[in-house]
Amino acid sequence: MLTIENLCARVEDKDILKGLNLEVKPGEVHAIMGPNGAGKSTLGSVLAGRESFTVTEGEVRFDGKDLLELDVEERAREGLFLAFQYPVEIPGVSNMEFLKASVDAVRKHQGKPDLSSVEFMKLARETSKRVKLDQAFLKRGVNEGFSGGEKKRNEILQMMLLEPRLCILDETDSGLDIDALQTVADGVNAMRSEERSFIVVTHYQRLLDYIVPDVVHVLADGKIVKSGDKSLAKELEAKGYRWLESEVA
Ligand code: ADP
Ligand code: MG
Ligand code: MG
Repeated sequence: MLTIENLCARVEDKDILKGLNLEVKPGEVHAIMGPNGAGKSTLGSVLAGRESFTVTEGEVRFDGKDLLELDVEERAREGLFLAFQYPVEIPGVSNMEFLKASVDAVRKHQGKPDLSSVEFMKLARETSKRVKLDQAFLKRGVNEGFSGGEKKRNEILQMMLLEPRLCILDETDSGLDIDALQTVADGVNAMRSEERSFIVVTHYQRLLDYIVPDVVHVLADGKIVKSGDKSLAKELEAKGYRWLESEVA
């Protein structure tokens, strides 16, 4: 599904990703952990196509397509979803309008007709219930004045409506209370399937008790320096990242 080879990227003349390799197969959940400033969010931003990041070397293929050739909207239409650490607020655009426009764009790309407003509203209401977000939030401006937990629930709502094939969640757990964390995890688990993959960036092993990953990677200094199964997350929790430095060296 996703193949990253020797990915190097910089921001403002600073090299951040320094030859990153990663392969994600359909149906897999990969967790990425690592020290602050390692480049985890940069990886997400590069995959999503944010403009402030320049790819200087390497290749990213998504379902055989050259991902780096596609612009941000095209990537989303191809089925890539990125949940940011800090979701954007779009005052003046209602959440419902925003969600419908996103879903219509993806459906159009897949050759499916737009859902009618009535059909979409029904779907959005049902899905809001699943993520325990009050329907009132559908009428409000996108993320406008939402709490951290509400933003995350809204993001999972968007993810469920879009049915992406590759979901990247960047520190979805930071600042969340246990209930919101559980909702995020339930949302991800409900969406896990043979065809859909996830990359979950997290600082805390705790999230991985709820979202059990197939593979855990450590990203340090712009590269994946170690990969293992879910027990690696427990080991990191117990030992921190320092012990890896000597191992990597
Ligand atoms: P992580 O998510 O692993 O904590 P990031 O990818 O956010 O790390 O950041 C990696 C490095 O890139 C950090 O040193 C950070 O300061 C730097 N960086 C990220 N974004 C920018 C930016 N827009 N301008 C300058 N430096 C940046
Ligand atoms: Mg960080
Ligand atoms: Mg980050």
